[in-house]
Amino acid sequence: MPGRLAGKNAIITGAAGGIGLETAILMSQEGASVLMTDVAAPALERALAKVKEVVPSRDGKLETRVVDVSKESDIEAAVGHLDSWGGVDVMFNNAGIMHAKDGDAEECPENIWDLTQNINVKGVWFGCKHAVRSLRKHKKTKGSIINTASMVALVGAATPQLAYTASKGAVLALTRELAIVHAREGYRFNSLCPAPLNTPLLQDWLGDDKAKRFRREVHFPTGRFGEAIEQARAVIFLASDESSFVNAADFVVDGGLTKAYVTPE
Ligand code: NAD
Repeated sequence: MPGRLAGKNAIITGAAGGIGLETAILMSQEGASVLMTDVAAPALERALAKVKEVVPSRDGKLETRVVDVSKESDIEAAVGHLDSWGGVDVMFNNAGIMHAKDGDAEECPENIWDLTQNINVKGVWFGCKHAVRSLRKHKKTKGSIINTASMVALVGAATPQLAYTASKGAVLALTRELAIVHAREGYRFNSLCPAPLNTPLLQDWLGDDKAKRFRREVHFPTGRFGEAIEQARAVIFLASDESSFVNAADFVVDGGLTKAYVTPE
């Protein structure tokens, strides 16, 4: 049986990280050709080895490329690389950072604010821009762009991370607008809004600090953090034609967290 993404060419940014790697595995299993990109070269090679180990026989291509999403020339070159594959069908703008020095309005240093916006917002814009260019160049009548936002784009975080929260709000807003602007071309744009996950981005930051961890865990109706694979499964749906009428969605995958009124016992 052909995979759910058979014949599609996909780019993933932040492919060496939790959500990106799980998505690369699932996309490969579903028959897509995948270009895994990340700024961290050694981690990217480890991620490639993992995909090859989990999916030893693949119908699509599988390559890596070092890309810093905050540099337009990097994104442009990565998207251009897919010209020889037939152009981009799926762009997963997933790379993002939450800096340890992020904080509230007073605490957040300006350089951390700028760094966060450059990667989390400008990087997503560059990805969208060059994906649209590729889709048009290759005269595609459909395409799916998925941008990783966060549930903090929808609700405030009680523990302040202002630069991060603002960046994810921007991702949500720009994705929504692009979805409307390009709807008649057949190009869909959706935001993925994960809740806190068991990935290095958050878990390294929480470390052994039990109090910090509890402040977050207590909000989950499920009583647990989400797993990266649970986000990746949603990405596969949004990337595939199964979601052909899903556009401009704030696609929330949070175990019900943003709908919950939870009080500590
Ligand atoms: P992760 O830290 O495991 O992965 C992020 C990846 O992005 C890393 O491999 C990192 O090297 C890469 N990256 C960082 N800066 C980059 C740059 N300038 N150019 C290219 N790549 C860069 O984290 P993750 O949880 O897999 O995060 C993926 C996305 O999900 C991020 O946008 C993050 O904000 C979002 N998110 C994560 C959580 C969570 O709890 N983990 C919750 C909500 C949203």
